[in-house]
Amino acid sequence: MSITENLKHVKNTLPAHVTLVAVSKTKPNEDIVEAYEAGQRVFGENKIQEMTDKYEALPKDIKWHMIGHVQRNKVKYMAPFVSLIHGVDSFRLLEEINKQAKRNNRVIECLLQMFIAEEDTKFGLDEAELLEILSSEEFAGLKNIKVVGLMGMATFTDNQTQVKKEFTQLSNIFAMCKERYGTKDNLDLNIVSMGMSNDYPLAIECGSTMVRIGSNIFGSRNY
Ligand SMILES: *Cc1c(COP(=O)(O)O)cnc(C)c1O
Repeated sequence: MSITENLKHVKNTLPAHVTLVAVSKTKPNEDIVEAYEAGQRVFGENKIQEMTDKYEALPKDIKWHMIGHVQRNKVKYMAPFVSLIHGVDSFRLLEEINKQAKRNNRVIECLLQMFIAEEDTKFGLDEAELLEILSSEEFAGLKNIKVVGLMGMATFTDNQTQVKKEFTQLSNIFAMCKERYGTKDNLDLNIVSMGMSNDYPLAIECGSTMVRIGSNIFGSRNY
């Protein structure tokens, strides 16, 4: 099946309130153009250099989401254009994003990445660290970022009970924070980014509002 057909198929399975991030990492610009011509505008990349090259080459109304682990010294390269950063996993990173956003005279939207999996290969905050960030005075002082939700990755396993437990945990933390912190200048929790090609229907069942799908659209990746 073509990218256009794959995209149509995936979109047909998504409820209207769920945003699709088409994960184009490692894929050539022609593939992104095909998805773009089929109407897709939100793309996800996991390397800042690759995303910046693609941003420069491709139509300017594309919304670029950084879904990978972010190194603080590279934030400056994406700060002029990035639309949403999913993988924010420390206060120091948030501070750096705020600094670079200010230099570019903009507010950058971020998701805080939560560690929900049983694998220690994945990044993210635990609940206590999340609450510490959101409650801090230092956080309140960051005017050039806006935390708009949470992101998480489930354990890579066929065990649906396990995956469901992890997604539900993220959903519950999200609901608790939304209730506890409400809306502020730099905090407006409305996105739960969870679900990839192999687990997104379950993620949606558990409350996801944003899915990050690569291989089901672009085919498997050759690294
Ligand atoms: C690669 C990647 C995805 C997409 O994975 P697929 O299995 O190809 O859908 C989603 N989220 C993150 C963080 C990724 O790195």
